[in-house]
Amino acid sequence: MTMPTRERPAVLVIAATDSSGGAGLVRDIRVLNDFSVDALCAITAVTAQSDSRVYAVHHVAPEMLRAQIRAAFATRRIGAIKIGMLGCRATVDAVVDSLAAERSVPIVLDPVLVASSGGSLLDTEGCAAMRERLFQQVLLVTPNIPEAAVLTGTAVAASESALIAQAQRLLDLGPQAILLKGGHGDGEQAIDLLISANAGVQRIASPRVRGTSRGTGCALASAIAARLACSATLLDACQEAKRYVSQMLVSHPD
Ligand code: PLP
Repeated sequence: MTMPTRERPAVLVIAATDSSGGAGLVRDIRVLNDFSVDALCAITAVTAQSDSRVYAVHHVAPEMLRAQIRAAFATRRIGAIKIGMLGCRATVDAVVDSLAAERSVPIVLDPVLVASSGGSLLDTEGCAAMRERLFQQVLLVTPNIPEAAVLTGTAVAASESALIAQAQRLLDLGPQAILLKGGHGDGEQAIDLLISANAGVQRIASPRVRGTSRGTGCALASAIAARLACSATLLDACQEAKRYVSQMLVSHPD
């Protein structure tokens, strides 16, 4: 029997639309649906994109973003929050201010910087505000290897010890854990590193899938948030999310 929608756990997705449908909010909602979790949404930006180019970005006004987040919390209990593309500093500030009172809800932040086509999705000031203000509010940040390099202002890591050192620098900015995604590395296995002050370094491995797909970062963060909303532990949520994304890559390679 299908569960009445109001009894299902819910995730608030704070993210942008991608007109191609490959990434962003469309991807997030598909993933949450696969986990039988409801989606509430607060749109940060509207983007015009194809799979090969970002044509235009329209930032939603900060007051409108604040209003969406307020209305989402007024609607029903929210079990977890997934944050995706933010775009600019004013948007980061609006999210930080809106979530300041919601300390008990686990937040997963996908630090989206560029599209796989190369188009910028967060400007330099926005990136600084995300590091300085938003990181300290979240449970988990999910950078890939190139994002970890940009966020730490260091070279792209070429070894596991260099990745762990970068994760440590990111933890110093305040999140409770970092999931450093190994998908951009090489080797037979794609190994994600879940790193926190409490649990140290935990490795989550899966066979490397050679294909790529749009929206894998969005999908992973949404899947983690879905499982957290169902009260999974952080490690279980990351493991299940990785299995889900591996399956997605096998089923729908580009
Ligand atoms: N566009 C939007 C709106 C996104 O939120 C994201 C990722 O989160 C992307 C594009 C990037 O996806 P991709 O790496 O598949 O281009």
